Amino acid sequence: MSNLERDPQETQCGGGVGVAVAAAPVREVLSGRDVPLGRFAVVRRFLPHGQRRMVGAWCFLDYFGPEDVAGRPGMRVPPHPHTGLQTVSWLVEGEVLHRDSLGSRQAVRPGELSLMTSGHGISHSEESPGQHPPILHGVQLWVALPDAYRHTEPGFEHHPTLPVLHESGLTATVVVGELAGARSPASVYSGIVGADLTLGPAAQARLPLEPGFEYAAIVLLGAADVDGVALAPGSLLYLGTGRSQLALHAGPRTRLLLLGGEPFEEQLVMWWNFVGRSHEDIVQARQDWAGGHRFGTVRGYDGDPLPAPPMPTTRLKPRGRHR
Ligand code: MN
Repeated sequence: MSNLERDPQETQCGGGVGVAVAAAPVREVLSGRDVPLGRFAVVRRFLPHGQRRMVGAWCFLDYFGPEDVAGRPGMRVPPHPHTGLQTVSWLVEGEVLHRDSLGSRQAVRPGELSLMTSGHGISHSEESPGQHPPILHGVQLWVALPDAYRHTEPGFEHHPTLPVLHESGLTATVVVGELAGARSPASVYSGIVGADLTLGPAAQARLPLEPGFEYAAIVLLGAADVDGVALAPGSLLYLGTGRSQLALHAGPRTRLLLLGGEPFEEQLVMWWNFVGRSHEDIVQARQDWAGGHRFGTVRGYDGDPLPAPPMPTTRLKPRGRHR
């Protein structure tokens, strides 16, 4: 997935910029905003949010669908670059074909994790295959790489099998990182968790958490009560830190995405599809993409690569925007 906005703004985050990490359990309900993704789809963006830029190292969260793509092209995201991050693709329903500049060509299907580590630079495309299921529904997330790893070699991993926890009507698939002692095989570079939680009929569960992590949850299907807050699709519930467990209950057929991680202490600059540490990092990445350097070539996508939008004419001050 790509940020396809024509006029993206630089966003500063991490390191307590904007709203600081909540030092205690909180319940902040944040609405996502609709963002066009090319001509064919609208996604709901939850992160970065004006009031909450990151949750741990999670710095970007787009939710799409459920959308009827029967007889339509579906997802068409042309080759575009990334730096300084990992992309996590996770589907509830449907199928997406991933291609990247390392030569990877991988079908992304529900319950299987596709994880791309951009390191210093990679490019990829994402599209609905020619013959695709009628519904497209899922999320794409970005994880910011800590400074020590942001120039690492790029990589792509596909994990069809992930650890699953069962507890009091709750089934948790550990997509990324660690939850209640179960660890995903995905490569990660900071203390983090991303888990898909399925709640059975009338489930009442207490999920063990790491008190040093901050957490947030969104609903993928159905509706749930999360720590006493009625949560429906369209909102993200930020939960803060200092929790050793989370109370969950739900009606039938509910799925949640739980995100968490150790608070990300480094300040970041995000613009378009790049995560850097300074305005200059972003300018350089944009120049490298425009000049055909650093990000390789995606083969097999039927269409032109995405051109980088123009840089914003203003440069953000180091402290970024406060709300
Ligand atoms: Mn992308």
